[in-house]
Amino acid sequence: MAEDQISNNDMLELSWHESYDPGDWVTGLHPMDTLLRGERLPHIWCQGCGLGTALTTFIGALQWLEKNQDWNLDKVSVVSGIGCTGRVAGYIRLDSFHTTHGRALPFATGLKLANPELKLVVFSGDGDIAGIGGNHFIHAARRNLDITVICVNNFNYGMTGGQVGPTTPHGARAVTTQYGNFEFPFNLPYLAAAGGASFMARWTVLHARRLEWTLREAMLHPGFSFVEIIAPCSTSYARWNPEGQGLDPQKLRRRGLEVMKHYQKVGKIAHGTHPKDANIRVDEKGLITEIVEGIFIDEPKPEFQASINRQAQVAKKRWAAANKALEERPQLPGQTDQIPRTEVQLGGFGGQGIVSAGRIIGQAATIYDKREACFTQSYGPEARGGAAGAQVVIDSSPIHHPHLIEPSSAIIMSQEAYARYIPQLAVGGVLLIDEGLVTISGDHRKDIITYGIPATRLAEELGNTRAANTVMLGFWAAIVSVISKAAMRQSLADSVPAKTIDVNLKAFDIGYEKGSAVRRHT
Ligand code: SF4
Repeated sequence: MAEDQISNNDMLELSWHESYDPGDWVTGLHPMDTLLRGERLPHIWCQGCGLGTALTTFIGALQWLEKNQDWNLDKVSVVSGIGCTGRVAGYIRLDSFHTTHGRALPFATGLKLANPELKLVVFSGDGDIAGIGGNHFIHAARRNLDITVICVNNFNYGMTGGQVGPTTPHGARAVTTQYGNFEFPFNLPYLAAAGGASFMARWTVLHARRLEWTLREAMLHPGFSFVEIIAPCSTSYARWNPEGQGLDPQKLRRRGLEVMKHYQKVGKIAHGTHPKDANIRVDEKGLITEIVEGIFIDEPKPEFQASINRQAQVAKKRWAAANKALEERPQLPGQTDQIPRTEVQLGGFGGQGIVSAGRIIGQAATIYDKREACFTQSYGPEARGGAAGAQVVIDSSPIHHPHLIEPSSAIIMSQEAYARYIPQLAVGGVLLIDEGLVTISGDHRKDIITYGIPATRLAEELGNTRAANTVMLGFWAAIVSVISKAAMRQSLADSVPAKTIDVNLKAFDIGYEKGSAVRRHT
């Protein structure tokens, strides 16, 4: 597009720009002077293009908001992606950002979240918003972020020569679909509505006044507002399709006008139409036969930032309660003796409380014994019943590597975990198995110390089989003796549901007694 597509005669007609003084661009002669970067003119848009009208209506809406709604335009930012429409960011005298293709919405999202005071307007084309950036569009709509998206739809990738795009009507021609587009286009208001936008409208550039009024409303709307502007692309799309009356280069200037006349003929204003039915219909040759226009949805919906703020209030209250509980929990003196890095591996299957047991050890070490600890966990892909593992490192010095290198003890509660973890146990390491669940293999390692604990049976006798892991924890605490009994009991009481604290403490004590007895005899 642009200059290289304008005829020599046209270039002569544009030569008055050569005397233009960019330092003196605000003449006061034109009502839009103050919002245009005169130093960036002449613009690159082709004769007959609809983008000039789209920009004019936008500026008109901004000026109205400044005058009638006390808008401070220093708080308005315009973001565009790439394409002919994207040039708006370069021409408008506001804080504006011309970003990469399809990424205007993520950029605007970042700006808005960093500075919620800003009013963000994304002004871009159909290829940018619905093609390359389509995913960002539906997610911004879903979040109902307070951003106005103005999408100028000219039915093709105009700037790059008129390739077929996501809104090219079915059957219409583009430079890459010379026999007619075999794909079906997006209905953009419907896409925005499906995403969750709370305001959407469509006009052609022919409806300049209605468009300007709608842009005012869209920018005032709290939440994600979307305005589609159907605009002629006189150089590319109109060249190939009947609305533009063919390829005759002499008609370049008139093509835009011809297209606008056609839009006037086929336009149908129907406010409140469900976006699903807000169609752009075409005949079998791709000629547009109906464009439904109007404001389709304008409804209140909690805006993204307001929703975040509401959640933040809830979180604040919960955090205050959690902090209070932390302050009120019992204080233990902590351990001051120096211990070497101690690694413990826990393994079993999902539902046995393997991960919880690992966390209880870590909490006991850090919160109550005031040592250093690192806790990691691993699962099989199954939701329940698959492999479950937990690893804890305990030290009296800061831990620089969180993963196990050579565990000195292991708590194992499934045959699979036995096969998997035993080879890694250090020579002389301590292996605890639930003897009701794990069978020692014929080639069991002789260089480790193995204890079988009837944990599941003991837990059954207590009336709660799920406390088997707690029996194992008690035995481990007594045998390995790197964490105090008081710390383990307190951590356990903090971690299990209130109604099972007693049974779990009993299970722990039984395990601890058995471990202590073994220790006394070795
Ligand atoms: S949209 Fe079409 S007519 Fe408009 S500037 Fe781009 S190529 Fe030219």
